[in-house]
Amino acid sequence: MKLLSYSKALYSSWLYYSPDRLLFDAGESVSSIMGNKTFAIEKIFLSHGHTDHIAGLVSMINIRNNAMGDKLKPLSIYYPRNNFHISELMNYMYRTNSNISYSLDWIPLQGGDEVHLFGEEGSRSARSINAFATEHSRGETSLGYNIVEQRERLKPEFRDKSQEEIRDIARSRGRGAITEDYRQRLFSYGGDSVPLNPEDVSSTEVLCHDTTFLKEEDRKQYKHATIREALRVGIEAGVKKKMICMHISTRYKKNYKEIAEEVISEEDPPFDVKIIPPGRIYREY
Ligand SMILES: [Zn+2]
Repeated sequence: MKLLSYSKALYSSWLYYSPDRLLFDAGESVSSIMGNKTFAIEKIFLSHGHTDHIAGLVSMINIRNNAMGDKLKPLSIYYPRNNFHISELMNYMYRTNSNISYSLDWIPLQGGDEVHLFGEEGSRSARSINAFATEHSRGETSLGYNIVEQRERLKPEFRDKSQEEIRDIARSRGRGAITEDYRQRLFSYGGDSVPLNPEDVSSTEVLCHDTTFLKEEDRKQYKHATIREALRVGIEAGVKKKMICMHISTRYKKNYKEIAEEVISEEDPPFDVKIIPPGRIYREY
């Protein structure tokens, strides 16, 4: 399984990205739905401190200490620096769990910070997380995250040349003369943000965007995004593969598909669009 998620606006949101063993946000139900897979998580990235995104940490930290599994496996929790609710939760966890068997780290981040995931830093296929600032609610610091992979490609001036020509140039001038390094965003997670700045997620392969509101008229405050706004962010950002619509309000529980499909066909994005149904477990293989 590549993705496992549960997302119902106001109640609970989390998304597990299994290739890199990352959990984005940790709403309640995360450990009960993930069960023993909870032990697979290596790093948690929190977008902000609202209850529906962090309440699951309380049981998860406890489960990793008490259930059957590797109780020594370290867990790192990354969160937006100076976030009041998360800092208070962290203090609560420290005070009430003095005997945690594994090393539990809380690491504050701010926009622009980078967290190394695996592979030799700077080398081909090394991966990292790049945090970017988002806008959600007043007085609450919030972050989005990109999974970034270091890659190598032919320099533009060599792209029209034949295999043989390229081989000859590489032989005489060295491989470094024909290739350049670049960073590919593989997966972008925006949390509960209002429409993301397309530049922050440009050319990403998969964009996971808030789409709390499927109809423009239902949004009263500028706190979240509508599906139309999210699609336009994706189009402007040049999303390569797909967009995942997350955090949909339960008011659309019965008709989310029809409403969403209408907007999607109007905006006609050049990528796939997947919808996490409000209040139902979502899996991608
Ligand atoms: Zn929120």
